[in-house]
Parts: sequence; C-alpha cells; structure tokens
Amino acid sequence: MAISFDLKGKTAIVTGCSTGLGQGICLGMAEAGARVVGVDYVAAPETAKMIADLGGEFTGIEANLLSIDPIQGILDQTLAKYGSVDILVNNAGIIRREDSINFSEKDWDDVMNINIKTVFFFCQAVGKQFMKQGNGGKIINIASMLSFQGGIRVPSYTASKSAVMGLTRLLACEWAKDNINVNAIAPGYMNTNNTEALRKDPERSAAILGRIPADRWGLPADVAGPAVFLASSASDYVNGYTLAVDGGWLAR
Ligand code: NAD
Repeated sequence: MAISFDLKGKTAIVTGCSTGLGQGICLGMAEAGARVVGVDYVAAPETAKMIADLGGEFTGIEANLLSIDPIQGILDQTLAKYGSVDILVNNAGIIRREDSINFSEKDWDDVMNINIKTVFFFCQAVGKQFMKQGNGGKIINIASMLSFQGGIRVPSYTASKSAVMGLTRLLACEWAKDNINVNAIAPGYMNTNNTEALRKDPERSAAILGRIPADRWGLPADVAGPAVFLASSASDYVNGYTLAVDGGWLAR
C-alpha cells in the first residue's frame, strides 16, 4: 500500500513533552518509529521511561520557551545528535484565567510569548532547516477550540490560539511549494493540567461534559493518532488545516 503512517528514520521535536498532550504526542511519534526530541522547562523522566518501554529513542532538552532564546540551541543539539530534523510539534502552551476587566499585562505577555511568539520563531528556525535539507518537512501547531470560539476569562489564550490558526494558514501558503506541510490540531476539552481548574469547578465541568457528543473529556492518547497522521506522508497534500480533535464539540 502506498499510504504510509510510518515515521521510521524521522526525527521529531515536540515541545511541552513532560506531561499532558505533549506526552501523548511523543508516545505516538515514538510508536510510529520516530526519534523524539522532547523539550520542556522541567525534566521529563516519565515520558523518557514510557518511550524506553516501547523500545523507542528519546532525548530530553530542558529549555524555557517563554523566550525565543533557546530555539537555535535546541535545533543545534538535535542536529548534532541525529543529523536532521523532519517534524516539529509546537505543543508547549499555557493559560491564565481572569476576568478581562482585571487581566494583567504579565498574564497577557507570558501567554502570548509562549503560545504564539515562540511558535512562530520555532517554525521559522525549523522551516529554514527543512529548506536547507531539501526534503520538505512537517510542522504541527497545537491550536484550541478557542481558535474557533471566544471562550470566557482567557483573553490572551483566545488571542494566541486564534493567532495559531491564522499563522498555520499563512506558513502553509508560503512553504507548501517547498513540500513543508504546516497544519494544526485543535484539541477539545482534554483531561490535563491545563483544564484542572475547569474540571474542579462542578458547574463548569458539568456544563462542558454535557456539551461533548462523545460524552467524555479527551485524553492525551486521543491526539497521538491525528499527530502521527499530520507528521506522516499520508498527509502530504494537507496544508494549512486545523484539525479539531474534540469528541464532536464543534459539530454540536
Ligand atoms: P499541560 O499544562 O498539561 O502541559 C503543557 C506542557 O508545556 C507541560 O509539559 C509543561 O511543562 C510545558 N510548558 C509549560 N510552560 C513551559 C515553558 N515556559 N517552557 C517549556 N515548556 C513549558 O497542558 P496540555 O493540556 O497538555 O497542553 C498542551 C497544549 O495543548 C497547549 O498548547 C494547550 O494550550 C493546548 N490545548 C489544551 C487543551 C486541553 O483541554 N487540555 C485544549 C486545547 C488546547
């Protein structure tokens, strides 16, 4: 069969790898055969062990992605170890909750810095490397339901994730001719640290669950398959698309 989801021989950089969706994506990439370079501001021993148990290859790099300073060093370390890079998953992201009327400049800047500024400059650095290598490449940005909807009490998050969807389209338009696929995944309401506050609030939690057609919160494993698809040659003619992985939330 010509269709392949196989990532053997490929190197994937995944940011925000220590827990949550990033961990699920790392495992998916490793299961599909990729060597995984996981980046996080904390160590990722659990992810490293899970990948070792699969017989996969994992390198952890500690770096704080609130600033764009570490990006070139991460790329250089990846190239020094594996020789090339084929896949970038911009997953690391944060959320700050406060009424817009009281929202602080710090909560605006921190979220915008990691969720969109770092995402752009990581795409730029890896895009340059893909062009140098000359075999194309795959970029997957992690968007959100709040790329499509407004939400409440998370103004910098909604602004950043709406920007992720737009940026994904723009980069796809510029780079598709170089065989670089830039796409995004928009997770729905997933059971990770990011949604802990929502899940602890009985009213919001029940309201959210009651609106999810799949009748459950999503899990890190739910994004692994879609990420592998967008990282593989099976998606070579998919460009600039944001794929919802949401248990039907947007279809409702
Ligand atoms: P999470 O908080 O469980 O994981 C975030 C990861 O990013 C962690 O590994 C964390 O250590 C890392 N990280 C945080 N700040 C960092 C920094 N300054 N430098 C480097 N790494 C840093 O959240 P998650 O739900 O797994 O979120 C992953 C992505 O998915 C985020 O972009 C988030 O916005 C997005 N997302 C999550 C949901 C959801 O429901 N959980 C929904 C839509 C989108």
